[in-house]
Amino acid sequence: MQVEFLIIGKGISGTWLSYYLQKANKSFLVVDNNQSNSASRVAAGIINPVTGRRIVKTWMIDELLEFLVPAYKELGNELGINAIEQKNLIDFHPTPQMKIAFDERLNENAEFLFQPTDNQQYLDIFNYDLGFGEVNPCYVVNLREILPAWRKKLLANNQLSEEDFKIEELKQTETGVKYKNINAAKIIFCDGSNSAQNPYFKTLPFALNKGEAIFIEAAGIPSTHIFKKGMMLTSIEENIYWIGANYLWEFPDDKPTEQFRKQTEILLMNWLKVPFKIIDHKASIRPANIERRPFVGFHPGHKNIGILNGMGTKGCSLAPYFAKQLVDDFISGNEILPEADIKRFSKILMR
Ligand SMILES: Cc1cc2nc3c(=O)[nH]c(=O)nc-3n(C[C@H](O)[C@H](O)[C@H](O)COP(=O)(O)OP(=O)(O)OC[C@H]3O[C@@H](n4cnc5c(N)ncnc54)[C@H](O)[C@@H]3O)c2cc1C
Repeated sequence: MQVEFLIIGKGISGTWLSYYLQKANKSFLVVDNNQSNSASRVAAGIINPVTGRRIVKTWMIDELLEFLVPAYKELGNELGINAIEQKNLIDFHPTPQMKIAFDERLNENAEFLFQPTDNQQYLDIFNYDLGFGEVNPCYVVNLREILPAWRKKLLANNQLSEEDFKIEELKQTETGVKYKNINAAKIIFCDGSNSAQNPYFKTLPFALNKGEAIFIEAAGIPSTHIFKKGMMLTSIEENIYWIGANYLWEFPDDKPTEQFRKQTEILLMNWLKVPFKIIDHKASIRPANIERRPFVGFHPGHKNIGILNGMGTKGCSLAPYFAKQLVDDFISGNEILPEADIKRFSKILMR
C-alpha cells in the first residue's frame, strides 16, 4: 500500500489532521488502536475563553474562536451531526475571593464576563451562596458523536487501520517511511500521551497529567449552559451529565481513583438540589507540556517524521487550528506559528 501520509492516532488531533488532508485531496492512512480511555474520549469538549484565578483570556482565543466555530460546523455538516454548541458558562463563585476576583475583572470591563440580571435563577437546582457570573461565549464540542462518525467514514473509505502501531517496525526509506506493507512519504504522530515515549519526540518537554471525570444521571439541570463550582458540569446527552476534572501530576497508572469519586460525590451532594446517580467514572492522561503550547511540525533531523500533539487541556480549540496550519505548511509552504512549531526545540530534538 502506498499513501502520502501515515497518521498515528485518531483522537481529536488525528481527526482534524485527516479531515484537512482529505480536503486537500491527499492520500492517507490512519492507524489507531481505539483506546477506550484516550484523552479525547474522556474529555467534556468544553471551550472556555478565560482561565485561572485572575480569569484572564486564554492564549490566542480570538483567532481560535474565529476559526474553530465555522470549522466544527463544517465538519458537523459533513458528518450529519451537530458538532458544536454554544453553551455559556454559569460560574458560581466558590469562595469570597473568587467572587471578588470576578467582580474586579467585571469592573475592568474584561471581555467575555457578564453579570447576571437574575441572581436567583438557579436556586431550585443548585445551592450557591455567593452568586454567579456568566462567561459568554463558551462552547461544547460534541466529541461523543464526532469521533465515532469520523471513524465510520474513514473505515468506509479504507483510510483507517484499527491496530496497535509498533514503532520498532517503522523504517525510514529514501522516499519516506515504511511500516509493515505501507509505504508513505510522511508519518505524523497524533497519538497523545504515547508520544512522550516516542524515540523521535521523547525529548520534547511533555508534562503529562492525569484527569478524571464522573458521569451522572439527573433530571432538571438545564442543558443550555455549562455550570461551574470548583468543577465543571455539562450535559452530554439527555439527562446525562459530565462533571470534572482534576489534575494529578504524579500517578501510578491511568485508572480512575477512589479519592476523586468520593470528592466529587461530596461536591455534588452539596451543590445539587436535584437527585442524581453516578453512572460512570473515567480517567485519562492529558498530553500536556511545560510550555502549554502545542507541538506541531516535522523533526529537524528526520524530515519525514512529524507530530501534532501537546494539546494539554485544550485539544478541542487547538487541534483544528494547528492541524490546518500543518497541512497548509506542507501544501503551500505557509509557516507554522513559531510558538507551536517544534523547530523551537531543534537543539533538544537533535541530541
Ligand atoms: C478528564 C479530562 C477532561 C478534559 N476536558 C477537556 C475539555 O473539556 N476541553 C478540551 O478542549 N480538552 C479537554 N481535555 C483535554 C483533551 O482531552 C486533550 O487535549 C485532547 O483530547 C488530546 O487529543 P489528541 O488527539 O492529541 O490525543 P488523544 O485523545 O489521546 O488521542 C490519541 C489517539 O492515539 C491512539 N493511539 C495511542 N497510541 C497508539 C498506538 N501505539 N497505536 C495506535 N493508536 C494509538 C489512541 O487510541 C487515541 O485514539 C480533557 C482531558 C481530560 C483527561
